[in-house]
Amino acid sequence: MTRSETLFNRARQIIPGGVNSPVRAFKSVGGIPPFIASAQGACLTDVDGRTYIDYVGSWGPMIVGHAHPAVVAAIQAATARGTSFGAPTEAEVQLAEAIIDCMPAIEMVRLVNSGTEATMSALRLARAVTGRELIVKFTGCYHGHSDSLLVEAGSGAATFGVPSSPGVPRATAHSTLTLPYNDLPALQALLAQRGQEIAALIVEPVAGNMGCVLPLPGYLQGLRTACDQHGVLLILDEVMTGFRVARGGAQALYGIRPDLTTLGKVIGGGLPVGAYGGSRAIMEQISPAGPVYQAGTLSGNPLATAAGLATLEIISQPGFYETLEARSQRLTEGISWALTAAGIPHLGTRVGSMFGLFFTHRTRVDNFAEAAESDLNCFNRWFHGMLAAGIYLAPSQYETGFLSMAHDDAIIDRTIDAARAVAKGL
Ligand SMILES: *Cc1c(COP(=O)(O)O)cnc(C)c1O
Repeated sequence: MTRSETLFNRARQIIPGGVNSPVRAFKSVGGIPPFIASAQGACLTDVDGRTYIDYVGSWGPMIVGHAHPAVVAAIQAATARGTSFGAPTEAEVQLAEAIIDCMPAIEMVRLVNSGTEATMSALRLARAVTGRELIVKFTGCYHGHSDSLLVEAGSGAATFGVPSSPGVPRATAHSTLTLPYNDLPALQALLAQRGQEIAALIVEPVAGNMGCVLPLPGYLQGLRTACDQHGVLLILDEVMTGFRVARGGAQALYGIRPDLTTLGKVIGGGLPVGAYGGSRAIMEQISPAGPVYQAGTLSGNPLATAAGLATLEIISQPGFYETLEARSQRLTEGISWALTAAGIPHLGTRVGSMFGLFFTHRTRVDNFAEAAESDLNCFNRWFHGMLAAGIYLAPSQYETGFLSMAHDDAIIDRTIDAARAVAKGL
């Protein structure tokens, strides 16, 4: 038995499913997840001493690579000064300034501890400032696990949502309406009917939790216009895309000014951080400036702000995103050629260093229903073939892959060689 198998068996006795977040358990692809002992640059090493080229990147945060010396040094220095004070610090001001510098739609920002907390708090704020209770989300978009957002479409188009997990009150689910992604007419029809009751619409500007699904040209602009017509706040959930698809996030890439933005992942540099921000008028409603309550014992934690600041400094260097983009293109083109040469139907998608791969005959995937037509058996063979070849991909067809700046051409070419060999066996 490998050490990972032994650890997974121990873990399953005492941690639900053996993991602290579900997708880590390899449930959809089968098999035992490697337990990771360490990571460096583009690579992970497991407890059995196997090394993998990593395209999960902790699900998005590790854009500068694992254990980047500048990030490690910043965390070590902060640790030596004390790990938590429960009182304001200079680094919080600096991180807030750095975020605002990247995203002009954010005039004020509040730091929290996770993406889930950021979206949950943004919804409360949107409901408070509009005096309305309904929320619109899009099927296949993920916004963390708060009750209002663990909701899926009920029967019929644009009906009240129903809980997507036991334990979510039906009444809570009913206050979230769901629509298909990339379908502006469906949204316009809903807003024409019930616009006056809707506080906010929350959307992933590039959907990264149903594979990687791009917004259709004009879709995000269409959301902005529709929201303006009905006094609905537009919340761009940039927990994944923020500082990832561009320094200024998807809002910079696509030229959209949201009312509220939610952030996470990259801004923590691998430590637990989230944030939400928007205009001064809206954000001043948050306690203690205003009446809308939101708090956190460890919010703005000194280690997390140090890691975030060090990461933002690296990604702000000239040429960072251009280099990352070129490498990402090299990788996804190489993988696509390998699959095409082996005659495997597939659709590759990519924005910056976020990439998806659907095993499908479709030439476009614009929403969750289309993503769900993919050949999951083929994905599972691909996933396990690549893992055996030392390439660590996300263990689900419905996740996005990420590159970091540590993925240099040699690492990418090793990945493409592996893809060629695995594709032949599919
Ligand atoms: C990861 C993610 C979240 C949730 O963030 P957590 O830190 O896991 O709570 C929310 N929204 C999007 C778009 C995400 O990708």
